[in-house]
Amino acid sequence: MHYLEVANLSKSFTDTPVFKNISFDISKGEFITLLGPSGCGKSTLLRSLAGLVTPDAGKIRVAGEDITGLKPQQRGIGMVFQNYALFPNLTVTGNIAFGLARQRINKQDMARRVTEVIELVGLNGRENVYPGTLSGGQRQRVALARALVVRPRILLLDEPLSALDAPIRKHLREQIRTIQQRLNLTTVFVTHDQEEALTLSDRVFVMNQGQIVQADTAEAVYTRPASDFVAGFIGNYN
Ligand code: ADP
Ligand code: MG
Repeated sequence: MHYLEVANLSKSFTDTPVFKNISFDISKGEFITLLGPSGCGKSTLLRSLAGLVTPDAGKIRVAGEDITGLKPQQRGIGMVFQNYALFPNLTVTGNIAFGLARQRINKQDMARRVTEVIELVGLNGRENVYPGTLSGGQRQRVALARALVVRPRILLLDEPLSALDAPIRKHLREQIRTIQQRLNLTTVFVTHDQEEALTLSDRVFVMNQGQIVQADTAEAVYTRPASDFVAGFIGNYN
């Protein structure tokens, strides 16, 4: 059963398309890693799903609902960026609650939801501090909590660990996977770290020049690359 369906999605900023007629399906609760060289269109694809970029053509459906024309906050999609994108003048609680600002929910429910996600990402005790006083890993957990507080149907993670040191990266990626499994949250995780791709995902999508050139289990991508490009790309990182 397909949960996120992307059909013939295309986007150009100039004459050169970033991607053209891209199609894929993801099941409910699946954790997909999107892997590919810099500039191949990973962020633009995620931003199109989130509604931050308007595709030129194609359809995006979630649970059978066409969301292609909806505003970002109407889509039920949470997104986390590499650079955290937190508000420096808001506390941890303020940053997370901001995710709910456009939703019609009362103060009590808002407070309960914020507490819930703070527990989930393990930021208890940090509720009233400002991002500037937090480590990179903690900031990214705030960003994750802000994405989760709306109870998204889809979670998009655009290289969320790239700015972090290796030990924190490993810890946080395990935490992300645990939370994702607990919530059965359909997730697309962009990385160029192949170890992350191998250890985290149900399936790996390898992207090159605006196309998904292989969509398969990590094991299959590593042992049976679909093309010379995939073999070379994977090989280059080993
Ligand atoms: P990736 O995330 O895989 O590194 P991006 O999606 O960021 O790739 O970029 C894909 C291509 O689209 C690149 O050539 C990039 O320069 C171009 N691009 C991305 N965003 C814009 C934009 N807002 N305006 C013009 N070109 C863009
Ligand atoms: Mg990118």
